[in-house]
Amino acid sequence: MTVITRFAPSPTGYLHVGGARTALFSWLYAKKKGGKFILRIEDTDLERSTQESVQAILDGMAWLGLDYDNPQPFFQTAHFPRYKEIIVQLIENGHAYYCDCSKEELETLREQQMANKEKPRYNGKCREVNKSVSDKTVVRFKTPIEGAIHIGDLVKGEIVVANKELDDLVIARADGSPTYNLTVVVDDMDMQISHVIRGDDHINNTPRQINILNALDAKLPEYAHLPMILGSDGARLSKRHGAVSVMQFRDEGYLPQALLNYLVRLGWSHGDQEIFSIDEMIAYFELADVNGAASTFNMEKLLWLNHHYLMHSDPNDIAPHLTWHLAQLGIDAKNESVDILELIKAQRERCKTLVEMANASVYFYREFEDYDEKAAKKAFVDGSDVVLAALCEVFSPVSTWEAQLLHTIIKDVAEKLELGLGKVAQPLRIAVCGTGVSPSIDITLAILGKEKTLARLQRAVTFIQAKTAV
Ligand code: GLU
Repeated sequence: MTVITRFAPSPTGYLHVGGARTALFSWLYAKKKGGKFILRIEDTDLERSTQESVQAILDGMAWLGLDYDNPQPFFQTAHFPRYKEIIVQLIENGHAYYCDCSKEELETLREQQMANKEKPRYNGKCREVNKSVSDKTVVRFKTPIEGAIHIGDLVKGEIVVANKELDDLVIARADGSPTYNLTVVVDDMDMQISHVIRGDDHINNTPRQINILNALDAKLPEYAHLPMILGSDGARLSKRHGAVSVMQFRDEGYLPQALLNYLVRLGWSHGDQEIFSIDEMIAYFELADVNGAASTFNMEKLLWLNHHYLMHSDPNDIAPHLTWHLAQLGIDAKNESVDILELIKAQRERCKTLVEMANASVYFYREFEDYDEKAAKKAFVDGSDVVLAALCEVFSPVSTWEAQLLHTIIKDVAEKLELGLGKVAQPLRIAVCGTGVSPSIDITLAILGKEKTLARLQRAVTFIQAKTAV
């Protein structure tokens, strides 16, 4: 059997991390089984669907690297004729019927049922009366009266729902447009989806969808319903817990690989392993290992993973992401002489996010405006100008501008001036970075380059002399 999975988001908001986890599990399962993974945009709710959300989904998938096998994303709105065809087929085969019960009538029914402590449901009034079509008729599916639907859910186990618990759901609205349960069924059937992997908020829809699939004589897919993701307070993860949209994690400086690694462990495990390369995720992923219980989103763990990936990834893989963050600060890193790979190596130990790394790296690209007041007060003292001028002099003729040599030079200057290394390195650091925090000074200078180093040393000498002259 060819495994075909799908991710079927409705474009009614940003791509939530819960959705991203669903996408990841579906993607992993398809990859693992050598199958196909389809992206299907369920945009039939014209009022709530927006182009912006479609873009957020596409951007989120691309940023995470979750590629899909359909050449173009599939948009349900482009397939109305096909849904119509199936609706007509269901009516003709006696599996669906027109219903003209008015809103008021249905509301009264609902109130009565509630008053009698019954489950509100359609009473089947139009089911056997052969109503003909009008602009007021919806189409309802004839749910079997007898029997039960058994779902061997790959995550939740056996689920049994008696058909008498279900009512005749609307599959086409009065304007002829198909409803969610109908479009999902038609597409799952036409796309030959073998495994429907989705959030457990859809469990109630599954028996209804199976009934429709049965009426169409379609092969049933397997189902795997993924448990919810909760915030730290036990409520369903939402905006008030912090970032929940995939693109917000990008904006806040996470690496896609770190987010994927975080998401894969949300409800799935492989022994005690915490760090997974994509290849390992694919090799080890099994639906049987997905936990049926809800999992809690832990920002600190994600931050820890992000730092891990910043520390251990190939700088070449980090560079495009840091470049993106630098661009947010107005820096076009591609057209600058700074060696971004060396910069990453120098900065990654002290940065947990790319936002931190970008912010801490601005002085490599741009002249800073002012010195950090506190740091300058402490390090720029009487005589510091002499130290910096001496450094400037010995740096000037250097032609191989590299860290080790610079280190030796700084040490020599300190010795010559009979100063501790710190008394030279700290004013030097503030002179070139504007702040007292940077990677080791020799590496900082090497990345900064000779020209900027000398210019900034001169600037600092002038600054100190002006200050001490007052
Ligand atoms: N479009 C549905 C949603 O975004 C998902 C449908 C499905 O996976 O079957 O919740």
